[in-house]
Amino acid sequence: MGPLKVAILYHDDFKLHRLDPISHPESPRRVDLALEGVNSLASQGFERLLPMVKAPKSPLESFKLVHDKQYVDSMEGLLRSGRVSWLDPDTYVSPGTLEALLRLSGASHKAVSLALKGVSSFIVGRPPSHHAGFKGKALKAPTRGSCIFNATALIAEVLSRHGRVAVVDIDVHHGNGTQDIFYSRGDLLHIDIHQDPSSLYPYTGFPDDAGEGEGAGTKVNIVTPPASGDDVYLDALKLVDHILSFWKPEYIVVSAGFDAYRGDNDMTVTNVGTRFFHLIGRMLSSKARSVVSVLEGGYGEGLRKALPAYLLGLMGKKNELWEPKTRSSRGAWRLYRAYKKLTIYTIVEHGRIMLPEELESEIKREERVFRLKEAGAKGRKRKRLKKGWWRR
Ligand SMILES: [Zn+2]
Repeated sequence: MGPLKVAILYHDDFKLHRLDPISHPESPRRVDLALEGVNSLASQGFERLLPMVKAPKSPLESFKLVHDKQYVDSMEGLLRSGRVSWLDPDTYVSPGTLEALLRLSGASHKAVSLALKGVSSFIVGRPPSHHAGFKGKALKAPTRGSCIFNATALIAEVLSRHGRVAVVDIDVHHGNGTQDIFYSRGDLLHIDIHQDPSSLYPYTGFPDDAGEGEGAGTKVNIVTPPASGDDVYLDALKLVDHILSFWKPEYIVVSAGFDAYRGDNDMTVTNVGTRFFHLIGRMLSSKARSVVSVLEGGYGEGLRKALPAYLLGLMGKKNELWEPKTRSSRGAWRLYRAYKKLTIYTIVEHGRIMLPEELESEIKREERVFRLKEAGAKGRKRKRLKKGWWRR
């Protein structure tokens, strides 16, 4: 297969959602950094594969496909008043937010029409999407996490009327809004890799949160502990690969956040390099007819380095931003394995996704090794106590 095109959907109006002076990490500076990442590839001769497409405008009404109608109407009323207002301690609206959201709606429709033609795209837009649930605040999250309407969910919803869809969320935070919107939908697979919810906002997305009713078993939460590196993330990638091979989506919608990249920001402590972002991009584009990516988080270096690595992966090009593989701490590996086991048990329990035999037996083998180690440790301890190490 030759290299693939990824249309970059953008409009300067995405910068109009802003506080003056800038006093919030979710600021217009983020799209500048993301464009810097995209342009670093253009300067390497990839511009033909990354055509810039102006995001058109569409009414906010579209968001009623995935949000409560009253929620959309009341937000539109507030946005039309043109005031600066705080919806909660994380989420603001400003006089330009309406324009930014009209473009986000338009970019979503454009991304859908491109996807239906088999063309992948990346929306470099704001505000982000994946924490916005059916009525705003989602699941048990304390705030809307800087998100107002959910473009990722809107795109997945519209595409699901044309073919089989999978949502893959690689932002370091759990995509609780998207999960909330599709929680009882059995036709929409949602896989979410995120940092341990016991230590990070929005404090949701444990492995046994697997959906309800018809949706039960179609929501997969893969938890990575703090201090996870490429090794943990690449293992998670394999699991995503297996699940997608079973699901066989025609379209993949990605909540593309780059805040798991090491040193991206001071809110998270994951240690992931460009390797993971490149490989997941490459894997995703091999799994579907087209991949639509929506910019979620990423506040610094993640946008300048992990984002272009991800695009290179999507295009099927080699990683020009190669970095040595980062390693997780031993504690992180241990905790990751325990969480992964729960994720696999949950998948097997619901029976909506079949995993290869080797994965299920890996879990069983690990359990055996773990028990042997425990037994060994107990044996050593007993011996030591009998002998008394201080008298050796
Ligand atoms: Zn995030």
